Amino acid sequence: MSKIFMNGKLVDKTDAVISVYDHGFLYGDGIFEGIRIYNAKVFKLHEHIARLYESAKHIDLAIPLSIAEMCKAVEETVIANSKKEGYIRLIVSRGVGNLGLDPRKTTNPQIIIIVDDISIYPEEMYEKGMEIITATTIRNIPNALNPRIKSLNYLNNILAKLEANRAGVPEAIMLNHLGEVAECTADNIFLVKDGVLKTPAIHCGILEGITRNTVIDLAKVEKIAVEECVLTRHDVFTADECFLTGTAAEVIPVVKCDGRSIGLGLPGEITKLLRDRFRKFISV
Ligand code: PMP
Repeated sequence: MSKIFMNGKLVDKTDAVISVYDHGFLYGDGIFEGIRIYNAKVFKLHEHIARLYESAKHIDLAIPLSIAEMCKAVEETVIANSKKEGYIRLIVSRGVGNLGLDPRKTTNPQIIIIVDDISIYPEEMYEKGMEIITATTIRNIPNALNPRIKSLNYLNNILAKLEANRAGVPEAIMLNHLGEVAECTADNIFLVKDGVLKTPAIHCGILEGITRNTVIDLAKVEKIAVEECVLTRHDVFTADECFLTGTAAEVIPVVKCDGRSIGLGLPGEITKLLRDRFRKFISV
């Protein structure tokens, strides 16, 4: 049976339970990370842990472990589950409080590390590309709930995901409050136009994806010009290529958006090159 890290102890999956008074459950008051295990190694562990602690800082949540202790806890949980390929869900919730939302009334943030299998898109989607839509639900306005916080409150994204489900597509673009492209429900978005790789800048109101940053680095190695900028739906419709990035999705081509074919309606050359470089990068 899989072992789950709960506040310093490894427990069986069936014993891994939290209180119904935990504010992570009552209010979505907490943060998380999704991390991949490739070849028994934790991918970009330090980047994920750094983002976790930044999310914690923003919501004024003191994690009762140092960064080094947290890295060790993640690695030990992976070893305890003997996972060579898989997915880690690291959660820090505010902890048990009363029914009011005041975090001062809570005690003991809960640290939970789950190691499990990963469900990815079918291989055919990587070869042929996926179709997406633009959701009518906009991404959270940064001054309300900054998308840079990877919080336990994913209702904003879930509302957009419901629209994707209704349209029968796997992902949806979420615009920001200015009508600019932000990101998808669980992935960042990239376009290629005239050989230049473009992706929404952080200030457009996105989660700064670890995969996004890795792909930007890999593109630079390939001497591909990269622009982090403002993009609109016009840029999506008229792009030569489009792809999404995320811990689960890795690099996945998009060939249609809102009924319009993107470029030739096939995965583009730069997309294929970056997917290939990404696959090589994770296997070393
Ligand atoms: N945006 C959102 C809203 C996400 O949930 C995710 C997945 N964590 C991403 C982007 C991609 O980020 P990463 O590459 O770090 O998984």
